[in-house]
Amino acid sequence: MSSKRQQITILGSTGSIGVSTLDVIARHPDRFSAYALTASTSVDALYEQCCRFQPRFAVMADADAAAALERRLRDAGVTRVLHGDAGLRQVAEAAEVDAVMAAIVGAAGLPPTLAAAQAGKRVLLANKEALVMAGALFMSAVREANALLMPIDSEHNAIFQCLPVAADGRPGLQGVERILLTASGGPFRSWSESAISDASPDQACAHPNWAMGRKISVDSASLMNKGLELAEACWLFDVTPEQVDIVVHPQSIIHSMVQYQDGSVLAQLGNPDMRTPIAFGLAWPERIMAGVSPLDMIATARLDFEAPDEGRFPCLRIAREAIAAGGTAMVSCNAANEIAVAGFLEGQLGFTEIPRLIEATLEQVPQVEPTTLSIVENADALARDTARALLANPGTRRTVARAPLSQDR
Ligand code: NAD
Ligand code: MG
Repeated sequence: MSSKRQQITILGSTGSIGVSTLDVIARHPDRFSAYALTASTSVDALYEQCCRFQPRFAVMADADAAAALERRLRDAGVTRVLHGDAGLRQVAEAAEVDAVMAAIVGAAGLPPTLAAAQAGKRVLLANKEALVMAGALFMSAVREANALLMPIDSEHNAIFQCLPVAADGRPGLQGVERILLTASGGPFRSWSESAISDASPDQACAHPNWAMGRKISVDSASLMNKGLELAEACWLFDVTPEQVDIVVHPQSIIHSMVQYQDGSVLAQLGNPDMRTPIAFGLAWPERIMAGVSPLDMIATARLDFEAPDEGRFPCLRIAREAIAAGGTAMVSCNAANEIAVAGFLEGQLGFTEIPRLIEATLEQVPQVEPTTLSIVENADALARDTARALLANPGTRRTVARAPLSQDR
């Protein structure tokens, strides 16, 4: 173990992943200390975390929230309060920082996560949207700055653990045939099409195996999460979408698998608890306690598998087509999805209208090559504006054709 304590910035410390990260850090005060904690607007939650973890910096996305936090922290300790994009960037790239947990939800996480990669940090990537939007830019920043990219998404963390070790000690592809990306199927896996169309936000957020933030919970219910994760896997492991099979595994005990040329399939198993991939990402190549209860195979009893149904869950097909289209298609897909999910959570559109809004947006926006961050940001903004306009005018959204049933075996 290294003698110096690792200084950790947690982008999005008040969210589901952020709280789990602090839980792991708190178990190892000899190894890790919180350098910076950040949140969007939740002053109370960030205040409590600052009192407990005494970070050097706290960053609030919102200036008024930052002022409120500063007033409350004035007599409480050592923490300086910053705000906005500049504050997030500062704590992501500061020289004293060893590792950055990227756990802001959505496209808002891209700029500070990219800054952490450009500064050569150990980047613990939960914010898959950053990679989905700017994969080429992000991966070249990682290579150029010699950053260490640790996937935290449970499936990608599992794949990382199952891949062979290359000469540089990092995962390689030697002898690998395919990646088997598992999906729980979400809360509507066995629901009829008509029941799904009446689903409420609370039903969509009631994930059978994981307690997560509301946006990713809706993505899991629509299978857009698996579409984003397909893109994420291709960037992280340098594979094509054709080399990745999506396997629905309702128990979420196997977190993904790697199939080798000799017929071997390696899987990573564990109870569904994000503290396992977080602890792995923090300590790799060592292993540390994560507070996760051991897997009881006898109690688990069975592991089931089935093919995904892209008919009832068209978001997976839409994402797959956007990945194949290339350019900024996945930027637009991700942006339209964020608007659609927010609209669904606010009761502005039904669950099955989410894919319609995304497809209608993709039909209207041009696709270009995402060679710079500003091209990505412009494509993101245009798709958001287009999706918002479509949300305000429901008559302009078209119906999503049902995909062939060949997947429904
Ligand atoms: P969450 O909604 O619980 O938390 C999001 C965090 O980001 C909060 O701290 C919030 O204050 C902050 N935030 C939100 N909007 C912001 C903005 N505009 N600017 C700055 N900060 C902002 O989300 P989560 O479930 O913890 O997910 C975080 C990320 O991790 C997502 O990208 C998600 O896809 C990914 N992820 C989550 C899980 C999980 O189990 N929760 C699993 C895999 C991947
Ligand atoms: Mg996942």
